[in-house]
Amino acid sequence: HAARLTGFETTIFAERSKLAVATGSVNLGQGFPDEDGPSDVIERAAQAMHEGRNQYAPGRGTPELVAAVRAHQRAHYGIDLAPEQVVATTGATEAVAAAILGLVEPGDEVLTLEPYYDSYAAMVAMAGGVRRGVPLRGPSYRPDPAELAAAITPRTRLLLLNSPHNPTGTVLTRTELEQIAALALEHDLTVVTDEVYEHLTFTGAEHVPISTLPGMAERTLTISSIGKSFSLTGWKVGWATGPAALVAAVESAKNWLTYTSGAPLQPAAAYALDERVAWTGTLAAELEAKRDLLVGGLRSLGLDANDPQGTYFVMSDVADLGWPDAVAFADALVERAGVVVIPCPVFYGEEHRAGEGRHKVRWAFCKRRPVLEEALERLAGTD
Ligand code: PMP
Ligand code: GLN
Repeated sequence: HAARLTGFETTIFAERSKLAVATGSVNLGQGFPDEDGPSDVIERAAQAMHEGRNQYAPGRGTPELVAAVRAHQRAHYGIDLAPEQVVATTGATEAVAAAILGLVEPGDEVLTLEPYYDSYAAMVAMAGGVRRGVPLRGPSYRPDPAELAAAITPRTRLLLLNSPHNPTGTVLTRTELEQIAALALEHDLTVVTDEVYEHLTFTGAEHVPISTLPGMAERTLTISSIGKSFSLTGWKVGWATGPAALVAAVESAKNWLTYTSGAPLQPAAAYALDERVAWTGTLAAELEAKRDLLVGGLRSLGLDANDPQGTYFVMSDVADLGWPDAVAFADALVERAGVVVIPCPVFYGEEHRAGEGRHKVRWAFCKRRPVLEEALERLAGTD
């Protein structure tokens, strides 16, 4: 393979899900729910196929999806978007890829929070950019504005944010976002923010899109998708919104990645956003109860667990358990307990992988209760 893919040959999610199947383990690794989203939304997709919505959609997205994304942003966040400020993508993954390919010159620096969702690092590398990380340090996993400021250089082009944050479950507060926004304004940075867990926040946490802060709408590209909000992770219907020039850059890159995205799924995604957003509130409440089950269970077994305020995930620091690193711990867990987790060193860059990232693992609680209970029972029966 080309040198740009060195270190990115596979993904930890594919590797660990394969291991779960091969060993019959309970899979608390890859973040996907084991129950589907609303059946009427699924029915709407089937109907769109039968109605003949099976040929190429417009590159920007079908009119109803563009309208639904605009209406959603207005209803939830008071954001007014013109049609040219929305582009549909093949999941948030393609939006991230197209944003990086569309905005980053070779040698440009991209700042990410660390740990980061793995596709960010791969895409920065494929674009010839340089990724620089600002650690969210356990046990609280909050950003330190001084560290963020210190990581900015004259080559910094993008600030790539993610809140609610995978894998830590951190939901950035308004104050934290204001501190980040002040730096973006001071250094004239473009912000790309991945908000795929926007609806999956728990009691006490509120999702604030950074684009709603003063001066930020003009410099922020916001990314989301249907996958997490509606438990339809395989659909890969996403979108990017923001200033027309940033959206145009995403669309230009997207033209050559996929050209257009799955036509019949777009009217169904529009239907979900228009008619079924209340469902996501129920989902968030269910996830919160599952978080409590898993976090409480891990702690009662003497394992570390952080306090995620959103997402599907909880982090453990396993440094005290005697394993050389998180990979050794995760491998032992498969062997001894039949439970798969994600070792997190791959979510850290060189600089922090052997330090802050070395002993972190991620557990997914977006699974049915009996599955979480089975995992905890297996752990309890293990030394
Ligand atoms: N960003 C983050 C932070 C994620 O956790 C995920 C889910 N895998 C994605 C992007 C990808 O979203 P999609 O499935 O819509 O491509
Ligand atoms: N976002 C999910 C996770 O973080 C799935 C990722 C994937 O399979 N690429 O686990």
